[in-house]
Amino acid sequence: MLSIESSFSLSQTDMQPTNRVLVVEDEDLIREMVVLALKEEGYQITAVADGNQALTILHDPDTQNADFPFDLVVLDLMLPHVNGLDLCRLLRHQGNHVPILILSAKSSETDRVLGLEVGADDYLTKPFSMRELVARTRALIRRARLNATVEPAVLQFGHLTLYPQECRVLVRGEEANLSPKEFRLLELFMTSPRRVWSREQLLDRIWGIDFVGDSKTVDVHIRWLREKLERDPSHPEYIITVRGFGYRLG
Ligand code: CA
Repeated sequence: MLSIESSFSLSQTDMQPTNRVLVVEDEDLIREMVVLALKEEGYQITAVADGNQALTILHDPDTQNADFPFDLVVLDLMLPHVNGLDLCRLLRHQGNHVPILILSAKSSETDRVLGLEVGADDYLTKPFSMRELVARTRALIRRARLNATVEPAVLQFGHLTLYPQECRVLVRGEEANLSPKEFRLLELFMTSPRRVWSREQLLDRIWGIDFVGDSKTVDVHIRWLREKLERDPSHPEYIITVRGFGYRLG
């Protein structure tokens, strides 16, 4: 059985009041206990009961901007419609690195490993104590904060230098004049050199899930980007076409 240790209270001195947690759990009792425990710690909670609702929230245009609205996702594995593993996989596939804490009724090692393999950060097996949940939540959010502060401020690849904060790109030492879409495309490529991106993935990531149009849009922007980056756009050395798959950097 789950236990709420109501007498337990952590010092809130290093708590940021704006930490936001998305709780995805279909068992009402557990969801309510988790929400209660995290609210008591000062977290701002959004709670949903199935995978589809979670997807709707995560794909809401208001939550699509660069600042992901949640600092942590507490995710049950067995969910109606879209299960926790698929949800986790999808978020990572979209390049979203929000900390994910999986809750699972299954205690087998393979489920744990599978959860961590699809990109979850931590794993709690039911039944768990609220004290443990709170402690893991705090640790995951703190770790993400530390990682975020050591992220490189400048991206470098070959003779390309990209300054994410300043929205500037230098090509062979000279300022390149990129449109916002071209900039975001290049930034995405530069965060994962040699990773192959399909046109659909690029549409999703740069134009957003609600974009109406076709993948030719991607090709057109790639052509423009090449004209600004490449010495010889017809023999690109940076943005490479991977036939049948898409594009990659380098
Ligand atoms: Ca469940």
